[in-house]
Amino acid sequence: MDPKFALQELEKSGKDGLTAHDLIDLKVTGGLTYNDFLILPGYINFPADHVSLETKVTRNIALKAPFLSSPMDTVTETNMAITMALLGGIGILHNNCTADEQAAMVRTVKKFENGFITDPVVLGAQHKIKDVLEIKRKLGFAGIPITDNGKLGGKLIGIVTNRDIGFCEDTNVELSTVMTKEVVTAKLGVTLAEANQILRSSKKGKLPIVDAQGNLVSLVSRSDLLKNRDYPWASKHPQTKQLLVGAAIGTRPADRERLAKLVDAGLDLVVIDSSQGNSSFQIDMIKHIKATYGNKIDVLAGNVVTRDQAANLIAAGADGLRIGMGSGSICITQEVMAVGRPQGTGVYQVSQFARKFGIPTVADGGISNVGHIAKALSLGASCVMMGSLLAGTNEAPGEYFFLDGKRLKKYRGMGSLDAMERNDSDNSGSQARYFSESDKVKVAQGVTGAVVDKGSIKQFVPYLITGLQHSLQDMGVPHLSELWNMVDSGQVRFERRSAAAQIEGGVHDLFSFEKRLYN
Ligand code: GDP
Ligand code: GDP
Ligand code: GDP
Ligand code: 5GP
Repeated sequence: MDPKFALQELEKSGKDGLTAHDLIDLKVTGGLTYNDFLILPGYINFPADHVSLETKVTRNIALKAPFLSSPMDTVTETNMAITMALLGGIGILHNNCTADEQAAMVRTVKKFENGFITDPVVLGAQHKIKDVLEIKRKLGFAGIPITDNGKLGGKLIGIVTNRDIGFCEDTNVELSTVMTKEVVTAKLGVTLAEANQILRSSKKGKLPIVDAQGNLVSLVSRSDLLKNRDYPWASKHPQTKQLLVGAAIGTRPADRERLAKLVDAGLDLVVIDSSQGNSSFQIDMIKHIKATYGNKIDVLAGNVVTRDQAANLIAAGADGLRIGMGSGSICITQEVMAVGRPQGTGVYQVSQFARKFGIPTVADGGISNVGHIAKALSLGASCVMMGSLLAGTNEAPGEYFFLDGKRLKKYRGMGSLDAMERNDSDNSGSQARYFSESDKVKVAQGVTGAVVDKGSIKQFVPYLITGLQHSLQDMGVPHLSELWNMVDSGQVRFERRSAAAQIEGGVHDLFSFEKRLYN
């Protein structure tokens, strides 16, 4: 045949591989998961670093990187949530703690970066240096505007910063003696861009914003300009420029009070944390949240693995669905309850269904490498949620320890007895996810373990991002949002992988090797 007819011949004989629909054919293959298949290569006509990973986690929350950190007490507290948001994802704060502790974590994340700081900490001239030091110890900053009444809204009479108090030995000295009185300010109504320009040209660290009478209304900080420059992908509220943060709650009456505190602290996304989300409790909770807060916060409901479960939660008003039952690395749900679903099939079935209603989905659990992320997304998930992959990093809670010469961090399931015992006194947190108060015997649904040190997510997440961009490039997909159309139309193709093919796809036939993943 003449080579110039190669394309016509392909047209006639049909594309290689399977559509996603044919891959997930329940009658033929049963449930599948990530290692059971591969994606066939497509056509590349764009560079990998041009691949956009922009996506949605729920109806109203968009991210530049499709990553969430799990609400687990060995994964997400403030440090993880701040860094995940800076890098383009979002952290979900765990609820294995009191409501006040969780709300304090939300507040810390929301305070980390700002546009106009509309509720700046303010002191009066009679306050002492030790008051500033106390604020610095608790909140981490020492740039304090001074007003005549010591409050926001009072007349601005000065400013105190690190530099004014650094060399004072007597911490009982009044701020009136150390504060700078000639303060560069901007008038109310100034745009953020203009305020930033004033900060750049004045070279000061803080710019107080005052009204026509000279009363303090807000503050702009130079360090936020730097954060904005250093983290261009940061997930931020479009108006306040504060980092986005999510938090987990249960479905009990007490969780409504917990949520009120979290919303008051500035929460953007609430995750209803349940291993089996299709319950009257969860439906009531979704309806309560929608009725009470309207569009103020988005609800990520779940977990689900079937279309039947998804339909109930979508009808109740969920803004996004979290998919996974028993796929987590620390999870023994499938072993003990015999209920669950292989994650690949769960992600495909639920995401296909949810997309009809414009509801994004999050593939939760079982992600152990970049390839799994690419596969979860290609099966329809809008984002992935990761526990074990992020647990051994500097930003995860807990201390490193050494065992057999390896540097490790603890990682435990929220349904492990270990985690559930943390809040025995108030039956809050993970107890509520995995137990009924009437249960006399606690049946564990997770284990306690350890994961190896992965360093900082400031290196690890960029590795995931770059790896994912290369994966999409190999598929011939220039934009994550185009992936799903290309999968649905049969342009992106799949293939099952036999047990032998899986062995072939890993490293093999070497005497020894070192697996370094990024540099
Ligand atoms: P400082 O120079 O010690 O005040 O600290 P930085 O300028 O390094 O950091 C201040 C950070 O805290 C910025 O990201 C602010 O947006 C944030 N922040 C949040 N709330 C406040 C506040 O009430 N006052 C100040 N000064 N900063 C705040
Ligand atoms: P720092 O680097 O965190 O100490 O903070 P700044 O760069 O804001 O402050 C340096 C010095 O300038 C301190 O003595 C401040 O009191 C003073 N300062 C801060 N803001 C202003 C301002 O708006 N106008 C003037 N004239 N001085 C300021
Ligand atoms: P699950 O463990 O993932 O199914 O999460 P749920 O939070 O839906 O339910 C946890 C357990 O708490 C179930 O066994 C319920 O029977 C029991 N329970 C009793 N009262 C309540 C209540 O008011 N709300 C919730 N959520 N659960 C309750
Ligand atoms: P990983 O990324 O480690 O594979 O899975 C993390 C996910 O496992 C979490 O986001 C959460 O949905 C789920 N998970 C966390 N703790 C437990 C547990 O104790 N039991 C079960 N069944 N799932 C858990």
